[in-house]
Amino acid sequence: MSTPTNRNQWQSLADKLISEGEIKSSAFIDGEYLPSVSGETFECVSPIDGRILCHVASCSSQDADIAVSSARQAFDEGSWSALPPVKRKQIMIRFADLLEQNQDELSLLETLDMGKPIRYSGCVDVAGAARAIRWSGEAIDKIYDEIAPTAPNEIGMITREPVGVVAAIVPWNFPILMACWKLGPALATGNSVILKPSEKSPLTAIRMAQIAIEAGIPKGVLNVLPGFGHTVGKALALHMDVDTLVFTGSTKIAKQLMIYAGESNMKRVWLEAGGKSPNIVFNDAPNLQKAAEAAASAIAFNQGEVCTAGSRLLVEAGVKDELLDLIAKELLAWQPGHPLDPETTCGAVVDRQQLDNVLSYIRSGVEEGAELIQGGGQVMAESGGVYVEPTIFSEVNNKMTIAKEEIFGPVLSVITFDGMEQAIEIGNDSIYGLAAGVWTSDISKAHKTAKALRSGMVWINHYDGGDMTAPFGGYKQSGNGRDKSLHAFDKYTEMKATWIALD
Ligand code: NAD
Ligand code: MN
Repeated sequence: MSTPTNRNQWQSLADKLISEGEIKSSAFIDGEYLPSVSGETFECVSPIDGRILCHVASCSSQDADIAVSSARQAFDEGSWSALPPVKRKQIMIRFADLLEQNQDELSLLETLDMGKPIRYSGCVDVAGAARAIRWSGEAIDKIYDEIAPTAPNEIGMITREPVGVVAAIVPWNFPILMACWKLGPALATGNSVILKPSEKSPLTAIRMAQIAIEAGIPKGVLNVLPGFGHTVGKALALHMDVDTLVFTGSTKIAKQLMIYAGESNMKRVWLEAGGKSPNIVFNDAPNLQKAAEAAASAIAFNQGEVCTAGSRLLVEAGVKDELLDLIAKELLAWQPGHPLDPETTCGAVVDRQQLDNVLSYIRSGVEEGAELIQGGGQVMAESGGVYVEPTIFSEVNNKMTIAKEEIFGPVLSVITFDGMEQAIEIGNDSIYGLAAGVWTSDISKAHKTAKALRSGMVWINHYDGGDMTAPFGGYKQSGNGRDKSLHAFDKYTEMKATWIALD
């Protein structure tokens, strides 16, 4: 069937999947779909309209034990870990091809499960996931180890080996994409993986496991355990036979995972956590219209549920009024709509709890004295789904709650500054350090500001750029380690020094 082109076609495809019970909702262990050991399930409710999509296996520590031992066995047998890199490459390229061939189904599952617009779930999420798998696979037979510059009577080899069993715990905002940012380098380097999707968005991970097997990834190498953080997530984080834990999600849980690692086997822990990124617009920004378009998409794309969201707009006093007018106009193109309508740019927030979080932040903005200049409310309630308007607060002080905490919704806090030093000071006054934008025509100011910002990514005269070739991740409480690029491979390998005496 060709890709649907309108809401009705997407809706009938969705109805068919749901009514025929075709949505995969089990755990995937050792190459097979299985119920959880306890038999427990949880409801998967679509935020689009409140409809129950399916009941998903709710895994616990018992399922974690089985999956970890399957992953360990596969690793030790070498069905994947001992393959020549060129073979792993071929299988990963096939995996990427199959993700692309199943793009309609995967993007539909993503949209139904977490509410993002269908216009992005294919071309951004699924396509990006396939790219991450393919890029990592393609790289693996082109990476060389090292020989140390030793004396002539000895050889010092520095080699990288897979860590072994990797647990990947991922969030709900870009479910398949965040999973594949981990799976790409983890699988390419020869590890076995247990993927724990968020309880709010398990469907694409579950479906993807079958696609991996079809591509030729041996059983036990990719296991998927749906379930809650405090049950199966915690069990994986505390497991004595998990070698590395990789995570994307909130800073609060990220910190907890470091504790679990310390309480158990000191597994390596790599964290991609939250952000409160400053998007800094100077008076000499080269193009205010372009800055406004970027600022609007930086807060409204994916309903604001983006770790790099440009949630603090720092604007220099001279262009504040003009810029705010332009952004307000731009945000009209980001009003919530039905996520299955290909015209919709802003969909449903992930669930009712997240809606309540966002609305309570909006109330706190008003209570703490910020000026609500656009949006501020829930919309489309009659749909049975959960939607919130893109919202702008002006006159925000960086000490206010809406400037300090990650809202993870389409709520922009506008803070006015005067001069580069103040911009840098406010920009850096955050527990986070994930990303930042800088808009100026002055090349020295651009570089000085970019250098002074304590953040993992800086975009000059645009926002949210990047691809597989550049590392993604943050400073401070935004995390450690990096996804994407060859730097990500370090997280999934141990480094060995082997000395050979020649006499
Ligand atoms: P979270 O950190 O609670 O969840 C992320 C993942 O961790 C999920 O798979 C979850 O099941 C798992 N988890 C939760 N508790 C766990 C535990 N004790 N042990 C092991 N795993 C555990 O994030 P959330 O609840 O989905 O959202 C809460 C907030 O986190 C959001 O409002 C937002 O501020 C932030 N968030 C950030 C990102 C990001 O990409 N930076 C993504 C999602 C959420
Ligand atoms: Mn869901």
